[in-house]
Amino acid sequence: MAAVECEKLCPEWGCTDPSEYRGVWVVGELDEEAGTISEYSLQLLTPARMVADKRGTWVEGVLLGYDRGALERAAREMIYHGADRVRVLYSERLKPYNAEVYAKAIARTAERYKPEVVFFAATMRGRELAPYVANTLRTGITADCTQFDVDKDGNLLMIRPPFAAILLAYIKTPNRRPQMATARPNVFPTPPRDESRRGEVVWEDESLLEGIRPRARLLKVRRLERRETPIEKAEYVVAGGRGVGTPEGFRMLEELANLLGGVVAGSRKAVDLGLIPHEKQVGQTGKSVRAKLYIAVGISGAAQHVIGIRECRVVVAINKDPEAPIFRHADYGIVADWKDVVPLLIQELRKLAAERGRR
Ligand SMILES: Cc1cc2nc3c(=O)[nH]c(=O)nc-3n(C[C@H](O)[C@H](O)[C@H](O)COP(=O)(O)OP(=O)(O)OC[C@H]3O[C@@H](n4cnc5c(N)ncnc54)[C@H](O)[C@@H]3O)c2cc1C
Repeated sequence: MAAVECEKLCPEWGCTDPSEYRGVWVVGELDEEAGTISEYSLQLLTPARMVADKRGTWVEGVLLGYDRGALERAAREMIYHGADRVRVLYSERLKPYNAEVYAKAIARTAERYKPEVVFFAATMRGRELAPYVANTLRTGITADCTQFDVDKDGNLLMIRPPFAAILLAYIKTPNRRPQMATARPNVFPTPPRDESRRGEVVWEDESLLEGIRPRARLLKVRRLERRETPIEKAEYVVAGGRGVGTPEGFRMLEELANLLGGVVAGSRKAVDLGLIPHEKQVGQTGKSVRAKLYIAVGISGAAQHVIGIRECRVVVAINKDPEAPIFRHADYGIVADWKDVVPLLIQELRKLAAERGRR
């Protein structure tokens, strides 16, 4: 981009020279309690590899934390799943997690090594860190991407549904580097794990943390007890919409989900009606699920809903309207009142469970 045009576009920040930036980064997220890397970070190695191949560059993982063993294991996992190199910043000063410290440390690492692209998973932590890092680096960020590509000039195309999800927005950051994006969990498949893959693990020195002092201090962390599998991890999901209509209806869906060993979810209308909590909403402003079986009950199939079920293996729709759009996205469709179908499914599954118990 011409300097004059660039000055006009961002007088405060100016342009960066893209030729100084190489490599595609995936910032990996560690589950400190389990000592493992998040599946959603590994999923990002799929678009990272595609973009790196198109750009003729490499894929790097970036990990921060205070548990050396967990970091080592996570670095290996990133390499087994496709990273060429993993940069690890290990320090006792990174305990406990603090967004300000982590974001500044990632930004400094990026300033040192100049990646052209930085990806974060759009988890709670990723959504907190990524804009912080982008702002520190004075670059743009696109949240909740569902696809990526590279344009003819080598810019990253960050593709996401805009507000109404009927169109796709193609967004790029042509005049600043790095180009930063978050991607929704479960939108990209996890690359195959190959233990024979080799890569480099680089332990960064603690000087990257010099002078970083958090303005807020974490005094105590209290974990909320989670008894149920979150919908984005469940293999069987029974989702209800406005057509289910009442708490009693949702209790029936819950019974069906229990018999399948799965969980209940719902559409945004179901959330708006107070029938399920927002954390169980499927879709554009909810979560993406990748169940083996997704049963949509009384859900019309709006674009903003079905965007969240693209990765499901088998979709069954139950709707009394034969014209409901959900049938276009379903492998099996049942045109009926759910009140006639769901009790039958429950009855059959109970029978099966009893038979198994007798054997
Ligand atoms: C910016 C934006 C973001 C959004 N994000 C999301 C999102 O993340 N997730 C989401 O779900 N929506 C989202 N929406 C809302 C979305 O557009 C739809 O309004 C919503 O998905 C519809 O929910 P529904 O299918 O439950 O209800 P409806 O569209 O009202 O459909 C109800 C369905 O139930 C069927 N039905 C009724 N009674 C029965 C019965 N007895 N038996 C069988 N079938 C029956 C009807 O035929 C109908 O098809 C978003 C909208 C916007 C503008």
